[in-house]
Amino acid sequence: MLKYSTFFETVDDGRVQCVLCPRRCRIGLNRTGSCGTRRNSDGKLEVLTYGRLSAVAVDPIEKKPLSHFLPGTRTFSVGTDGCNLMCPFCQNASLSQCPLSSGYDATVVRQWSPDEVVQVARHHGCDSIAFTYSEPTLATEFALEVAPLAKSKGVRIVYVTNGQVAQKPLEQLCLNLSAANVDLKSFSESVYRTTLKGELGATLNAIEKLVDAGVWVEITTLIVPEMNDSTQELTQIARFIAGVSKDIPWHVSRFHPAFKRMDVPATDTQTIFRAMDIGSSAGLQYIYAGNMPMRQGEDTCCPSCKHVVVARSGFRVIRMETRQSKCPKCGQHIAGVGFP
Ligand code: SF4
Repeated sequence: MLKYSTFFETVDDGRVQCVLCPRRCRIGLNRTGSCGTRRNSDGKLEVLTYGRLSAVAVDPIEKKPLSHFLPGTRTFSVGTDGCNLMCPFCQNASLSQCPLSSGYDATVVRQWSPDEVVQVARHHGCDSIAFTYSEPTLATEFALEVAPLAKSKGVRIVYVTNGQVAQKPLEQLCLNLSAANVDLKSFSESVYRTTLKGELGATLNAIEKLVDAGVWVEITTLIVPEMNDSTQELTQIARFIAGVSKDIPWHVSRFHPAFKRMDVPATDTQTIFRAMDIGSSAGLQYIYAGNMPMRQGEDTCCPSCKHVVVARSGFRVIRMETRQSKCPKCGQHIAGVGFP
């Protein structure tokens, strides 16, 4: 099925400019943009990955990770190939980078219709559909068609995103997403530009705009040794988040050797605890530890009396004690969507 993007402009000499993400690729006839998922076909921008879900699964929403959005529910996780960053430490490179390494072959991935995605989500008792695994910005045309169908059935749309999205599609996402987990990978413009091949400002802008629009936002930082693990940088990240809202949950996650960083050791657990302390000092109310070797940092604690209001193990909620979204011990409101 041929599908053209709505996010492009005609430039000159038959070239088109993709305006979906900050890279704004100018693409010659029969060439693809730098993410490998969009091609200039006869002066229009064809979305090669439209509806071609290379990964699907029914997951606990906690796995995204989202700890304050419909806790304890299932989400239908879907992903198309491709990413508009080139993180050398990518933990999911077989999906995110494959259109670049081998060229995108749409024929090996089955095409789904928007209606089919919603039907399968409902069949499995999912309260949401999460666009995840690789970068959902590249699936925005498809997601925007899934969204109204899902909404009509009471199913919400979630993005697990790097936030590298241009203003116009971001505005449409603000109207159609219920929640997002945004990766804030560094607070260094030069790391974003030279190591990740993106723009720090785009991700910061996406976080602010999504929060302003009322989308429930949580933030993940994968802590990579010697890239973003200094106290100074972690403090900058935590203070930025607190400046947007102290109620935004911050997930600090352990790096494991992957992709082009097989020679870098896994993040020391003490670094994760240091990051959590930095987040607390910045005023953040909810901080979680990800990819840890033992059950630590998954629980939701009341920011006032520290009582465990949601206990989790391996992404599963094993006890949820909130009453009308409040701590049963001290009555403190617990920020989020869908707490009992
Ligand atoms: S979505 Fe892909 S083609 Fe479009 S600007 Fe971004 S990297 Fe380039």
